[in-house]
Amino acid sequence: MKLNIDELTIFGGKPVFEYALHVGRPNIGNRQKFTERVADILDRKWLTNGGKYVQEFERQLEHLMGVKHCIAICNATVALEIAIRALGMKGEVIVPSFTFIATAHALQWQEITPVFCDIDPETHNLDPRQVERMITPRTTGIIGVHVWGRACDTDALGEIAHRRNLRLLFDAAHAFACTSKGQMIGGFGDAEVFSFHGTKFFNTLEGGAVVTNDDSLANKIRLMKNFGFTNYDQTGYVGINGKMNEVSAAMGLTNLESLDEFIGVNRHNYQFYQTLLAGLDGVSLIAFSDVEKFNYQYVVLEIDAQITGVTRDDLVAILHAENILARRYFFPGCHQMEPYRSYFPHSGLLLPQTERLTQRVLCLPTGTAVGEMEIRQICGLIRLTLENSEEIKRRFTR
Ligand SMILES: *Cc1c(COP(=O)(O)O)cnc(C)c1O
Repeated sequence: MKLNIDELTIFGGKPVFEYALHVGRPNIGNRQKFTERVADILDRKWLTNGGKYVQEFERQLEHLMGVKHCIAICNATVALEIAIRALGMKGEVIVPSFTFIATAHALQWQEITPVFCDIDPETHNLDPRQVERMITPRTTGIIGVHVWGRACDTDALGEIAHRRNLRLLFDAAHAFACTSKGQMIGGFGDAEVFSFHGTKFFNTLEGGAVVTNDDSLANKIRLMKNFGFTNYDQTGYVGINGKMNEVSAAMGLTNLESLDEFIGVNRHNYQFYQTLLAGLDGVSLIAFSDVEKFNYQYVVLEIDAQITGVTRDDLVAILHAENILARRYFFPGCHQMEPYRSYFPHSGLLLPQTERLTQRVLCLPTGTAVGEMEIRQICGLIRLTLENSEEIKRRFTR
């Protein structure tokens, strides 16, 4: 443990960690189970196109989430694109800017305009009152993102969508195995999309899913993800190749067997961070309600530089020098990235809470690759930095 700031790597010390500690290191379940499944896939010589493992994976997810239909897809970005198209969204769709860029790109890729909407600073999710203000005659839908696994205000958004005749999709990439009002996320809105990318706490290498209780929507998505084929020789509409392969499904089935363990580790890490960061002025760890289920896959701090005296960006630079690769999710906000930045150079004026939050957030490493020893070191460094903020401000230039 570094005890004085001259030992910090930015001032010439040696990094605390020899190897980089990443946000989003993969959680990998039982290796033998996985390789047995892969061997079976090779023996059966059925690699993709609705094979046994994909089907079993879909049925297990339907059971877990209590939904009628799960369609496994090759990744969440394509899953979003397919769901958006199948729902008939066009013109303008309201989305948060405080999200991973794929939420916006999935619209723009199909020439649909993402209209960025501000968030509630408490929940980090779409503010329904702002959503209402962004609706125009061209608006066809709303995509809410359950940021950090904390659900959007599904009731308020559902009410607006119903009253204004808009489609409602949720990007639930963060929210696998989480609940809202006691109900598993997956059954809200017209459909919900999950990501099983390698950096998510539950992965299928690459992968995603669309989940819905709507029979005809599910049927459409099942065809669309396979070029729109309705039988061997005919297509019903334009489609894409969005299929999940058998090896990914085998990884998914294997990781499902360790789901409780992954969540347990994440919860323990979160609580340990909470204990060690308690009482540190200007640093707050985002909170999770006791009455819902969460996956705790993101350990998210908000840094108030007015109080800490050290900016979020300086803190990130100090941690990076120590090989702690904390991330500024979601910085700088989708509206500040191309092509949106050029298309709508003034959209930030309508996004004051988003702009403020993107300057404050910081995600710390967690998951099965991180233990108490690492968390002690990380929190010790944050404490050391803030306790010496005056001297750091004077001596440290990035
Ligand atoms: C990870 C993520 C995606 C994209 O998922 P992929 O499976 O990598 O395509 C979309 N939205 C959000 C909010 C994400 O975090």
